[in-house]
Amino acid sequence: MTLPELSAYVAAEFQKTYGRPPRWIAAAPGRVNVIGEHTDYNDGFVLPMAIEFYTVMAADRPVDGKNVITLRSTFEPEPAVIDLAVPVKISTPKWGNYPRGVVAGFQARGVNPGGLDVFLHSTVPLGSGLSSSAALEVCTATLIEAVTGKTIDPIEKALLAQKAEHDFAGVPCGIMDQFISALGREGHLLLLDCRTRKTELVPMSDPAVALLIINTNVKHELGSGEYAKRRAECEAAARIIGVASLRDATPDQLERAKSKMTDVVYRRARHVIGEIERTVHAAEGIRQSNWPTVGQFMYASHASLRDDYEVSCKELDVVVDIAEDIGYKGGVYGCRMTGGGFGGCCVALVKAEAIEAITKKIATDYKAKTGIDAVIFSSRPAAGATIIKA
Ligand code: ADP
Ligand code: MG
Repeated sequence: MTLPELSAYVAAEFQKTYGRPPRWIAAAPGRVNVIGEHTDYNDGFVLPMAIEFYTVMAADRPVDGKNVITLRSTFEPEPAVIDLAVPVKISTPKWGNYPRGVVAGFQARGVNPGGLDVFLHSTVPLGSGLSSSAALEVCTATLIEAVTGKTIDPIEKALLAQKAEHDFAGVPCGIMDQFISALGREGHLLLLDCRTRKTELVPMSDPAVALLIINTNVKHELGSGEYAKRRAECEAAARIIGVASLRDATPDQLERAKSKMTDVVYRRARHVIGEIERTVHAAEGIRQSNWPTVGQFMYASHASLRDDYEVSCKELDVVVDIAEDIGYKGGVYGCRMTGGGFGGCCVALVKAEAIEAITKKIATDYKAKTGIDAVIFSSRPAAGATIIKA
């Protein structure tokens, strides 16, 4: 579904649900991180792209004039109800905490959106690592901008959405997801410095290439404990090297400190230091439309995540192996796991003309090797959050 189609669908569903057309419509995209994994909490760089999959909200004032926001999602049987007469707090249903947190963020800035009837749908798959949560938050914020007629700085909007996820959903996420959903621009990736929060749009408008997102449809549940360990190992490495964070460390410094580290800590640091460098170089390669070089950085990123950082899994490795098998001749420039790891998605840089053949080959081989059906879709760099009807 294109964004205009999706928006028409949500408007029609709003009409069916509430018996009148919506007055406002807003959208915010999901994202895929092209390169720069496990660099964010090390003050490094990430390079995400907004994808052509969105959360869309349609809204109008409630007919009874009540000071209550009611949100109905196609994914949830129970609506989320936010009573604006009392301070907004964490509540049930759980999914409502994302929009609740955003409303609380606006209230903290002295902005009261007023009562609303909302209908929403998302083409970002939920819980697959493509950040349906950030899309939901940033969409809520963008809808409130439409309703109040007052836009806020997109960086402030992203930080407000991140705070909602921290405080209301209890997820201590970084800044990447909300930044790309709020600041993405069509035909561009976003190089984001997680230390300074400086952003740079990196043009990627060559119609001959696209990104393929391959959902392995597995999620191994060693997640959160392993992430906490990785963070601690990175902090230990920085301490031994004598820098504030691994962002400040060079490969030379790491080698000199090697004898003072365990092998595991050394390899974790080698991943992070190498990955930060790869991300900056990949952005340069994208600017120059040097696709084979960008692809090599993606493969190198995967190998490092698999061998040094140890956050891959069999299914992710299978996808990357199949991609390497198809190779440059078959239209694949590079492929890597994306997101935290232990399942979720891979991202591949491919020739646009070969998308169909590559999709078929990956789906068939992945099924043969794992017995699992992958979900595969392509996207070009999409636009960030937008007000569709003001
Ligand atoms: P991801 O962000 O990778 O998709 P998360 O676990 O962070 O995965 O966020 C998924 C959660 O966000 C869902 O379980 C649900 O609570 C909420 N969510 C996201 N999109 C929607 C939606 N369209 N409708 C209802 N809840 C949603
Ligand atoms: Mg999320």
